[in-house]
Amino acid sequence: DTVIVLFNRDLRVHDHPALVAACRRARAVIPLFVLDETIPAGHRHGFLLQCLTDLRAALRARGGDLIVRHGDVVAETMKLARRTGAEAIFASADVTALARRRQDRLAGEAIACEFFPGVTVVPPGTLKPSGGGDHYRVFTPYWRAWSRHEHRRLLAPPRQVPTPPDLDAGRLPTPPPPGPMPGGEQAARDRAHQWIGRSLTGYADSHDDLAGDRTSRLSPYLRFGCLSPLELTRLTAGNQDFVRQLCWRDFYHQVTYAFPRINRADYRPRGRHWRVEEDALQAWRAGMTGLPIVDAGMRQLLAEGWMHNRARLIVASYLVRVLGIDWRAGARHFFEHLLDGDVANNCGNWQWVAGTGNDTRPNRGFNPLRQAQRFDAKGEYVRRYVPELADVPAAHVHRPWRLTAPPSGYPLPIVEPPPG
Ligand code: FAD
Repeated sequence: DTVIVLFNRDLRVHDHPALVAACRRARAVIPLFVLDETIPAGHRHGFLLQCLTDLRAALRARGGDLIVRHGDVVAETMKLARRTGAEAIFASADVTALARRRQDRLAGEAIACEFFPGVTVVPPGTLKPSGGGDHYRVFTPYWRAWSRHEHRRLLAPPRQVPTPPDLDAGRLPTPPPPGPMPGGEQAARDRAHQWIGRSLTGYADSHDDLAGDRTSRLSPYLRFGCLSPLELTRLTAGNQDFVRQLCWRDFYHQVTYAFPRINRADYRPRGRHWRVEEDALQAWRAGMTGLPIVDAGMRQLLAEGWMHNRARLIVASYLVRVLGIDWRAGARHFFEHLLDGDVANNCGNWQWVAGTGNDTRPNRGFNPLRQAQRFDAKGEYVRRYVPELADVPAAHVHRPWRLTAPPSGYPLPIVEPPPG
């Protein structure tokens, strides 16, 4: 019998329950990835192509291959199933509305479908609050239940992937040359091991230091499943501060599973009203608001496809609390540019900041100037990403408008900065 393993955001061979089950149960296994239009051209698309190239190599090293098709995921999968006489489709279960619509469409076809864990540490829907309800709305009780939960066993990669040799493997577009964060399982594993060896111990003290940049930067790899979140949890089990962050990821996935409209609708509507301010939104997007800490974060995003978490909090809070602009506009921009952009984490966090989500203190805002003083005291982060301020001394770098001769080429604040 023949099984198609449909890859999506689980681009690895280590700890891959669907792949392992297929290799155990079927005589022939067809690993498949269908490239569709859901990932916009840009950083994330290039990263995806690097991941796929790496996955194909890993499968080939095991006697298999990655079959690549282009078009609608369900239509292409079914075409391949009919052509090869496959009896079943195995895939990792995902949580977003789009992914679940796709899963439902597949399940409606005349073929057996099985969905496996692997995208999160604990599958969404597994943990239920004791007080009732289908999911946890508040993080801390979820973290307690998650920490007590007995996790499944980690799975070694299959030794042999028996892909039929006569299949057309399909064209994989050439990936961009590897940058500082190259996509793929091998790169993910290398980075994870290096970072754990070097920086995990200091995580609690250093993860908020903007210029120090000492967080793991594993988010893009988790986004595409190049790294099993369960394996990462095991590898870092001794450091509760770090594991807690991985739990936040699971938390937002279970929220998204229960509330698939998270990318469009307020999770907890609180009657907030947003302004339409195209010019201000454009200045924010471009990193030209005149508030250095905000502009540094936004420019890091454009340059690297990644932004430090503390900067994400500051720029998001500035957009919704200072400019009064709808969190959805911010989330869309993030989603377009972030290598790690995914619906659950992106919209979960945006709603948290906007006070329409899971924050238990929905009226809290982050004062950008105080945050700047605290997490970029010397202004190194600002100077790194805002070259117009490279020569401004630390005392003024977060408030260049106070200088008698403000640096040329850098805008004055587009709105009065909150006192800080
Ligand atoms: P580390 O500090 O090394 O943390 C390790 C891992 O834990 C991360 O890779 C991530 O998977 C998880 N994690 C950490 N913080 C969070 C968090 N607050 N919520 C959920 N998971 C977390 N993260 C995304 O992966 N994708 C997004 O689209 C995304 N959008 C965000 C939007 C906003 C407005 C904010 C405030 C945060 C967003 N985050 C998002 C969460 C967080 O900023 C990133 O996960 C983190 O900065 C990634 O860097 P790192 O891997 O070095 O993190």
